[in-house]
Amino acid sequence: MNDASPIRSASAPATRPAFARWLATTNDVTRTFLSAGRIPGLINMAGGLPAPETYPAAELAALAQQAIAQHPQDTLGYGPIEGLPDLRDALAARFSTPTLRLSRDNVLITTSGMQGLDLIGKVLLEQGGLIAGQFPTYLGALDAWKPHSPRFRNLRFDEPDFDPLAALAGAQFAYTVPNFSNPTGRLVGLPMRHALVDAAHATGTWLVEDDPYGTLHYDAAPLPRMIELSGLKGHGASYDGPIVYMGTLSKEIAPGLRIGWVIAAPEMIGALTMAKQGSDMCTSGVTQRIALAALESGLVERMQPVIVNLYRERRDALCTALAEHLEDWFAWEVPVGGMFVWAVARDPLLDTDRLLPLAIEAGVCITPSSVFDASGQYRRAIRINFTLNPPDRLAEGVRRLAGAVQMMSRQ
Ligand code: PMP
Repeated sequence: MNDASPIRSASAPATRPAFARWLATTNDVTRTFLSAGRIPGLINMAGGLPAPETYPAAELAALAQQAIAQHPQDTLGYGPIEGLPDLRDALAARFSTPTLRLSRDNVLITTSGMQGLDLIGKVLLEQGGLIAGQFPTYLGALDAWKPHSPRFRNLRFDEPDFDPLAALAGAQFAYTVPNFSNPTGRLVGLPMRHALVDAAHATGTWLVEDDPYGTLHYDAAPLPRMIELSGLKGHGASYDGPIVYMGTLSKEIAPGLRIGWVIAAPEMIGALTMAKQGSDMCTSGVTQRIALAALESGLVERMQPVIVNLYRERRDALCTALAEHLEDWFAWEVPVGGMFVWAVARDPLLDTDRLLPLAIEAGVCITPSSVFDASGQYRRAIRINFTLNPPDRLAEGVRRLAGAVQMMSRQ
């Protein structure tokens, strides 16, 4: 048990009530960077946070007012577990393509993307089950699946002898963030998307395509979603393949709406609905109605170029500052989308868990790589967010970070 953890496990003395064992495995580093956001004057480049000035507050307030006035039953009553039928229809229409036939039965509304990940763990994972995933991976996914004590197999896309069939075989599911992965910002290319889809069909493995950043592409047109490639293989009236696509309005409009969706075979939607029943019964009807109105009125579509242009400028500002101040210490690829730069230390022994407190002392917060590694052992990299802060703050944050790196090198 981690001594710093406030949670006592089931092995604690029997005289006091105990908690489940997995809670004692929480990581101090995570707590440190999550609480650092509240330090006055600190430049927070740690979180995956949107720029709050992009939130369309006035429009959403008007839509909220209309939603409750015009749809009191949908907004104020309990709704269907699967989500409001009109919103499910709107999302089925939004994601349908000539090769991907979707109906309402392919869509589950979730209380944002995080709930989709949690429900997947509930319906697919046996205790100690195997997940084939892209590692390092999204911290929230690791957190969602921790209670099931899963084992992990790394999908090493970059290795020349990577064999998708062997990589998926025996896994309870596979997990990827193909568009600008969190934390690495990497894009999974088209040949690998095809290979993974083929392997999912051939091995009968569920493949979770988590896509919160799909609309944040800065340099090139988006690649086809894996669920679309999978749709090419289907013959039914609506999609019934093994890809489980997840999306969210968090990066397209505002994370506070907590609106997400899963698009998958009706069989999977049915299973997830059973799990959601035991979770929150239904997603807020108020925010579902706001989301529907935001989609139907074109607000979501209008926001996209505004957000993309702002974030592209911020990505460029961050990468310019990194090249000026940190090139000797770190290497990175300029991400073609998403919210993060993943910088890997040139010195394999540089420990970014140790860098974190020095960076906070210098007035900047970044996320060390250990939190994205199920074993917590990978400590050579940092994730730097570029969407929250304007260019001058990003440049100042990088200057502070360079100061912390130099201080560490002198210790
Ligand atoms: N998946 C990934 C990869 C993410 O980075 C995030 C949030 N940053 C989510 C899912 C979930 O986001 P939300 O719950 O806000 O929809």
